Amino acid sequence: MPVLTTSISGWGRYPVQTCELERPERYADLRLDAACLIARGQGRSYGDAALNENGRVLLTGRVNRLLDFDMEQGILRAEAGATLAEILAAIVPQGWFLPVTPGTKFVSLGGCVAADVHGKNHHHDGSFGAHVLALEMILADGSRVTCSPAENGELFWATVGGMGLTGIIGEVTLKLIPIKNSSMMVRHHSAGSLEQLFGLMQDAAIDDRYTVAWIDSMASGSRLGRGVVMCGHHASMQEAPLDSRAKPARARNIPRDFPAWALNPLSIGAFNALYYQREGGKREPFLSDYLPYFYPLDAIANWNRMYGKQGFVQYQCVIPDATAFDGIKALLQELSGSRRPSFLAVLKRLGAQGKGLLSFPMAGYTLALDLPIRDDGLFTLLNKLDEIVLQHGGRVYLAKDARLSAETFRAMYPRYEQWLAIKNKFDPQNRFSSSLSRRLGIGGTHG
Ligand SMILES: Cc1cc2nc3c(=O)[nH]c(=O)nc-3n(C[C@H](O)[C@H](O)[C@H](O)COP(=O)(O)OP(=O)(O)OC[C@H]3O[C@@H](n4cnc5c(N)ncnc54)[C@H](O)[C@@H]3O)c2cc1C
Repeated sequence: MPVLTTSISGWGRYPVQTCELERPERYADLRLDAACLIARGQGRSYGDAALNENGRVLLTGRVNRLLDFDMEQGILRAEAGATLAEILAAIVPQGWFLPVTPGTKFVSLGGCVAADVHGKNHHHDGSFGAHVLALEMILADGSRVTCSPAENGELFWATVGGMGLTGIIGEVTLKLIPIKNSSMMVRHHSAGSLEQLFGLMQDAAIDDRYTVAWIDSMASGSRLGRGVVMCGHHASMQEAPLDSRAKPARARNIPRDFPAWALNPLSIGAFNALYYQREGGKREPFLSDYLPYFYPLDAIANWNRMYGKQGFVQYQCVIPDATAFDGIKALLQELSGSRRPSFLAVLKRLGAQGKGLLSFPMAGYTLALDLPIRDDGLFTLLNKLDEIVLQHGGRVYLAKDARLSAETFRAMYPRYEQWLAIKNKFDPQNRFSSSLSRRLGIGGTHG
């Protein structure tokens, strides 16, 4: 099979590395003829999870057939290269929806399993892996096996959240959820401070299946952590009669890189103030099409160019419930004190930890920040944020990471040793290896 050697990156455009790309056309072509390789779906992880510097990267984008759809039961079987966009186009008109979705539909099924992605409904429905009925995998010795919670369970739970390091996921069988139409019923609540924001997110009276908060990352002092809590659910027939259904907005594009100065404390501060007024001012419930509701950034193609040529880091961490308020407050204080603007700051509530041994979610609150890379000072700041996260018993999300140290990773992921024993059993030579796994010392030194 032809191999193309070229430079690629994750969505954050940092780091950029030379990799050997191979693009099989069919499931039968998925074979392991490189000493060390990693699968790559849509490359929407931000850092180096789907990179393999000077090694093989298997692009799964063409292995993307939808194989079987049981419309009575809402069970879908598809090749792991299929994107959520392709799946949604097939299932939404039939009255079904994804049980869990990240904030972009341009991700592959395999990527969703490997990162055990979470959505705005984690506190109600758990993460992606909790809804996967079975996986077909290709292992390091070339064998093909089925695994599920009941069959080869240890391989299954090492693969869910395992960042592609246990094998290639070939097919995924997923349980969907029923919907009545494609609209969402949404309600916004504004909070003038972090205290109020936490109060709203813990208020059972306003909680909804999907809950997320936007935070004004530039606010400080008594307004530190001010934001808007956005709650929603799939609309019922009564809530969204046919003639009232919302339509998705037209797609836009960022044609070239923004200059480095475009995102600065002044411009982001001004944007945040406007956004806070506009979104926080929506006091009445309203209907939204599911596309802008779940995937607002997908409407702007190449939005990652906004951060300039040097790219950006998305720092996403979770802090457990007991220490969440203090931890998030300390993180926001450190951030606003640094005067490094984060264009995006999002807070979500997470429910109980799942069974994926390297999965990110744990019961608590997750904060995500997009930080442009201007100089090395950013990495000094991020190391300080790691310390705060560790002090509060939390962890950083590997699917977003580009710079965590091996030592910090071990401290944050206590189930690593248990995962490693399973990895060594199914991939003793560490053939499935990525730039992320080598940086974090995951899976040993060879590979
Ligand atoms: C705008 C945006 C919003 C996002 N929002 C969220 C969110 O709300 N919640 C969340 O959890 N994540 C979120 N993410 C992160 C994203 O969902 C994950 O990084 C996901 O893994 C990306 O899927 P992908 O197909 O692009 O995978 P890639 O980036 O290509 O790969 C990610 C990992 O999956 C592995 N992998 C991919 N395919 C396979 C396969 N077939 N077999 C084995 N391993 C495989 C890769 O080896 C790699 O380790 C967001 C990303 C973006 C860009």
